[in-house]
Amino acid sequence: MAEIIIIGAGISGLASAWFLKQSGHQVQILEAGPQPGGCLRSEQSDGFLVEAGPNSTLDRGDALGELVQALGLEQEMLEANRAARRRYILKDNRPVALPGGPVAFFKTPLFSTDAKLRLLLEPFHGRATKEESVAEFVRRRLGHEFLDWAVDPFISGVYAGDAEALSVRAATARIYALEAEYGSLILGAIMRMVRGRRSGPAPSGRLVSFRRGMQSLPNAIADALGDAVHLQHAATHLSQSPGGRWSVRANDMDYSADHVVLAAPAYHAAELVASLDATMADSLSQIAYPPVASIALGFARNRVAHPLDGFGMLIPRCTGLQTLGVLFSSTLFPGRAPDHTVLLTAFIGGARNTKITDREDTALATHVLRDLRPLLGIQGEPVFSRVRLWPRAIPQYELGHLDRLAGIDTSLARWPGLHLRANWRDGISVADCLNSAKALAETIGPG
Ligand SMILES: Cc1cc2nc3c(=O)[nH]c(=O)nc-3n(C[C@H](O)[C@H](O)[C@H](O)COP(=O)(O)OP(=O)(O)OC[C@H]3O[C@@H](n4cnc5c(N)ncnc54)[C@H](O)[C@@H]3O)c2cc1C
Repeated sequence: MAEIIIIGAGISGLASAWFLKQSGHQVQILEAGPQPGGCLRSEQSDGFLVEAGPNSTLDRGDALGELVQALGLEQEMLEANRAARRRYILKDNRPVALPGGPVAFFKTPLFSTDAKLRLLLEPFHGRATKEESVAEFVRRRLGHEFLDWAVDPFISGVYAGDAEALSVRAATARIYALEAEYGSLILGAIMRMVRGRRSGPAPSGRLVSFRRGMQSLPNAIADALGDAVHLQHAATHLSQSPGGRWSVRANDMDYSADHVVLAAPAYHAAELVASLDATMADSLSQIAYPPVASIALGFARNRVAHPLDGFGMLIPRCTGLQTLGVLFSSTLFPGRAPDHTVLLTAFIGGARNTKITDREDTALATHVLRDLRPLLGIQGEPVFSRVRLWPRAIPQYELGHLDRLAGIDTSLARWPGLHLRANWRDGISVADCLNSAKALAETIGPG
């Protein structure tokens, strides 16, 4: 049994601690903030259930399913309304549903006839010869209309990122793999669908949350870990003795262990490793985290004309609007808004609009409402409003990200017992963080 200190009680740190404890190790978590969960923040207010961070995640039956079962959260877990399969994109000042099948695809006004016909040539484009941005990759394989009206808004919706800056291999690994494995996105997608059907459950996964919001998951893990979780204990110094033991300083106390897992954002991890390894610190500090504001708006149902019959609406950058998109939160899951009201959650900011940090919360909410009002047919003022600004929200897997990770891993090899785990590697979604935490426990091995 090894003694292990985990720095950061976001979902990466909590899940790492949980899986390591299951493997027979003795764990302690040091968390700077007053509550566990990091970005997972669910707040109940005036009958609305607001998510300041993630609203849902994809359950592919892997680490998330295992945790939910082990923590007895099955009854708390909610699968998104079937309507959530419909996703809108703003085009020509109105929400247009993304086509769900081949017939709808040929009818959709999202793309011109030329753009649709160009898809027939997609399997004949060769593979990339250098690292490409998401935008370069999509323009090369599918054409600029698919970039502007589908992929670019998707990148804004997931990363609040810039498709010209993100690496296709790092940021959209599953899409990149289609080209790498099958030489074609279309043929690859078809092959995956066929294989998925043969092997049973839907490969794309189920969109899920919890009855009392996403924070239920970190709360349940923290409860299970009990007094191993030390809140308001910011780690300020990290060192290794000549014998290999690690020491972490927090609140004027020294905690010592055989392993340390740094599950903090890259910029905080950089500060902690700076005195050990300047090269590693430099690579970590290069990972960008643009700001994002999440704006929850509640309305009386009869004040919103749109049926809100979907997941939400993405707003392409080429429309000139600053709002990145809006989730139809009260459609997604029950219990998000009181009877006869609806809850929308909009996002603004991101890699292309970093100036939002200069603006007041009320100005951001007013801006978003001004953008959405004509698009969803909103009348009057919201009955509820909540703004949460994340000054450094989501790590950007930019061009060179995978080389940067390889460099960090090379540095890490010089520090046995030190591990780095958080959303800046192995995927940004909550489900990705859980899988990465489980993989760490497998790497360290049983206690
Ligand atoms: C607005 C927003 C919307 C999102 N939407 C979705 C979504 O719909 N679906 C989805 O799957 N994902 C979504 N994500 C992404 C997902 O929520 C995050 O990637 C994930 O929660 C990150 O978890 P983490 O534990 O790696 O990092 P964090 O949540 O950032 O946790 C890191 C923790 O480390 C602590 N810490 C930092 N420094 C120290 C220190 N020195 N000592 C001790 N503790 C320290 C911090 O206080 C924090 O609690 C969203 C993210 C944001 C911001």
